[in-house]
Amino acid sequence: MKKHGANGAKALVLLSGGQDSTTSLFWAKNKFGYVETLSFDYGQRHKIELKSAKKIAKLADAGNTVIKIKEFEALKNNALLDKKINLKGKDSVNKNLPATFVPGRNILFLTVAAAFAYTRGIKDIVIGVSQVDYSGYPDCRAGFIRSMEKTLSIGMEYPVKIHTPLIKLDKKQTVLLAIKLGVLEIMAYTHTCYEGKKPGCGKCPACVLRRKGFDESGVKDPALG
Ligand code: ZN
Repeated sequence: MKKHGANGAKALVLLSGGQDSTTSLFWAKNKFGYVETLSFDYGQRHKIELKSAKKIAKLADAGNTVIKIKEFEALKNNALLDKKINLKGKDSVNKNLPATFVPGRNILFLTVAAAFAYTRGIKDIVIGVSQVDYSGYPDCRAGFIRSMEKTLSIGMEYPVKIHTPLIKLDKKQTVLLAIKLGVLEIMAYTHTCYEGKKPGCGKCPACVLRRKGFDESGVKDPALG
């Protein structure tokens, strides 16, 4: 593994293959001396996300491990795991949340990531959540992240630090951060679309949010060629 960032510490980045986690990965590369990535195969609608993650990790010269969490598929209670549920609808339990909300997802992901980091001697975990453009997901807020950090540190008796470089950024600011990091072109490989289309259906909530970010930042989405 090539040394990159100024800080000698090791970091583990949760990499979904999307724009936010990819920007967070390159943010981490700038900050830490060693970076590796972790992706989850949790029965998401489209495996294209995992292919994107592999490609991006390679471009970042960072290792990529995929962990399977198949149990999530059995729940089938949200639009990301069940194709029969309308992507633009509301959550079946909490009408304030969108149908794409996967209950417990980031709790589970961060728990598995922390356990994985522990075995690797890594104390810094990076996740690309934003509480500005977070689609209404409660597990993307700062309060949740601080709470998880505390729980994981106590539960493993191991000082886990969860970094959230995008927490206060909207989609436009995330695009601007990618430009500042010099990795705008790499966004061509990121996958956003909930329908699994490449470069995107242009209509699903994820595509709409992505387009808004690029439009407002005044640069063309490199994924659109
Ligand atoms: Zn789409």
